[in-house]
Amino acid sequence: MNVSTKTKRIFLSSPHMGGTEMKHVQNAFSENYIAPLGTNVDRFEGKLRQYLSISGALTTASGTAALHLGLRMLGVANDDLVLCQSFTFVATVNPILYQWAHPVFIDSERDTWNMDPDQLERAIKACLDGTLHEFSGLGFFKNRPPQLPKAIVPVHLYGMPAKMDRIMDIADRYGIPVLEDAAEALGSEVRGRKCGTFGEMGIFSFNGNKIITTSGGGALVSGDPRHIENGLFLSSQARDPEIHYEHSMLGYNYRFSNVLAGIGIGQMEMLDRFIAKRRNNFFRYRRELEDLPGIFFPMEPEGYFSNRWLTTLVFDANWYPTLRIPDLVAYFSEHNIECRPLWKPIHLQPLYRDYPYFGDGFGEFLFGHGICLPSGSNLSREDIALVILLLRDFLAKHKA
Ligand SMILES: *Cc1c(COP(=O)(O)O)cnc(C)c1O
Repeated sequence: MNVSTKTKRIFLSSPHMGGTEMKHVQNAFSENYIAPLGTNVDRFEGKLRQYLSISGALTTASGTAALHLGLRMLGVANDDLVLCQSFTFVATVNPILYQWAHPVFIDSERDTWNMDPDQLERAIKACLDGTLHEFSGLGFFKNRPPQLPKAIVPVHLYGMPAKMDRIMDIADRYGIPVLEDAAEALGSEVRGRKCGTFGEMGIFSFNGNKIITTSGGGALVSGDPRHIENGLFLSSQARDPEIHYEHSMLGYNYRFSNVLAGIGIGQMEMLDRFIAKRRNNFFRYRRELEDLPGIFFPMEPEGYFSNRWLTTLVFDANWYPTLRIPDLVAYFSEHNIECRPLWKPIHLQPLYRDYPYFGDGFGEFLFGHGICLPSGSNLSREDIALVILLLRDFLAKHKA
């Protein structure tokens, strides 16, 4: 293969339309429901409920908006503590600051790369025994009275389910509600139960790069109808039931477009095929790279099912002493291929570096040693073959 003649860009995860989306969008136009409500919104929410086997789903303007609503409904407010996964995308954490609360960062464990239950329990104990300041650079955590955290926010990063059995067990023992960030994990499961349905509430994202997309959008799901009802109220400017505009609470404009919901309906029809394709991408990468020494793919623990939203892998520095992740990303980019370093842990971000952190540096290790490979459901066999060829070529140059 002559790689230098390659012109079409290969994306990390690009939108993949199934074909019926325009028909549902057209319906919105026919009904003139170009609004943040309508039959497409109702149908899309119905499809989500059915797919997830959960009684309540509320679509929102974004996954971030759904997280913000979720925290607000759990009563997270000024000066509260929220335990959240550090190895994630910043959107998991920003809503904690929107509520003027404080994130307490929990590192990831080795199997799933998600919230480490042992570190979670350590953090809860520190919040309760007044030693939280020992884990933070911020002076104002000193002399803080013992305080029960208001919420736990685990993430199913890259589609891999977190250790929900243990996280729920700890959460129940201490009486702390769980808000699951399943933005990347639509269709992932633990023992047949869908990610996003374990906690008090869960959220999804339909942003442009997610496993299904509506160009932008999200959903809040819950088995508790009060959360869905309150979420609807808060997301439509908290308008009180009067003929005129009457407001006694602070609300938001977080509702989802009926036009975009049409895309969502069409995408839901494709979801199972998209998952099968992304899992196939993963199996193909692994099969054709596993003969190489010093590379590691995260595997599903027994009973776990990942949608394999993105195929990720890490490199052992002993085998590839001169390999630098930014160089690898640049090398792919020169060949018109988009790949990305693993997400930078949020406790290392300048915005968040002074908040408490419980961990042993595993998230930081992942950031320094791993990448996400092109993983879209619309990649061709040739696309994947090219990525594999180039990766093998790069690794050969950096082998010890
Ligand atoms: C995409 C994403 C979000 C935010 O979703 P938006 O719809 O982009 O607001 C939150 N958390 C994680 C882990 C994500 O990947």
